[in-house]
Amino acid sequence: MKNMKDKNSTNSSFRCANCNRSVPPAEKTARNHCPFCLWSLHVDSEVPGDRNSNCGGKMEPAAIFQKHGEWIVVHRCAECGKEISNKCARDDNFETLLSISPNSNNQIPNFK
Ligand SMILES: [Zn+2]
Ligand SMILES: [Zn+2]
Repeated sequence: MKNMKDKNSTNSSFRCANCNRSVPPAEKTARNHCPFCLWSLHVDSEVPGDRNSNCGGKMEPAAIFQKHGEWIVVHRCAECGKEISNKCARDDNFETLLSISPNSNNQIPNFK
């Protein structure tokens, strides 16, 4: 059975549901959150990119942490409370990112 899972289709420009700015596609990976305000949409069920959720709620950036030198942002759905962690994109607004972290004052990361 054919489904609509086209890997390329996830990497397209979109308008952010939170700050209403238009977001260009990411260079390499499929972008799943806004680089300006870091909000996302609840479209994935279990794995980032699976697009298996019917929720469609706005997902707020709830926490960030570092894993293997990469920044991970945890999105929490405002509708259903689902939490999904996603890798940050290179052009995410790092000031905004830091403002999410409770440790931002004593833990200045080396972000390259
Ligand atoms: Zn936004
Ligand atoms: Zn949801």
